[in-house]
Amino acid sequence: MDYCEALETVLKSNVVWIEAQSCSGESVSILKSGCKSLEDIFFHSSPFKMFSIISGERSGQEYLREILQQQDFILVIEGALPKDEKLCHVGDMTCGELIRRLSQNAKAIIAVGSCAVNGGVIRELGYVGIKEYLGKQVYEVPGCPASDKMMVAAIYYAVTGSKS
Ligand code: SF4
Repeated sequence: MDYCEALETVLKSNVVWIEAQSCSGESVSILKSGCKSLEDIFFHSSPFKMFSIISGERSGQEYLREILQQQDFILVIEGALPKDEKLCHVGDMTCGELIRRLSQNAKAIIAVGSCAVNGGVIRELGYVGIKEYLGKQVYEVPGCPASDKMMVAAIYYAVTGSKS
């Protein structure tokens, strides 16, 4: 299976992609791949849900409520979390609160990019990775930005249980 086919499978799956404190490097890596299926994120009713500063009009409170009602999904997190909760907000909750709530119903959690893995370039400023923050099992794809192919491979594996 080639990269675009794997991405298409991922986009047709119940995946929630949340951006915490990040520069959007991982989102951009995925979006610049040029695969045809990417327009699903923005223009069609794909089950794949991206909540990011670059997801435009699909970033409102209503969309956030929809995301919080998801069950049995793969949670993908881009960006670090601050130890000081008030430094990162999504809508009317902190990034940490949102990610804690989502992590309770997620089948698997994948941290993409070094910021999400260990705090990355902002660790010295008091930010930590998702595993450290949640204290539970998290699959990790390091890199700054993380490789689009490695991210899609990790999500594909979490969705299908297959590596090919
Ligand atoms: S790991 Fe690098 S590309 Fe990803 S959010 Fe952090 S600084 Fe940006």
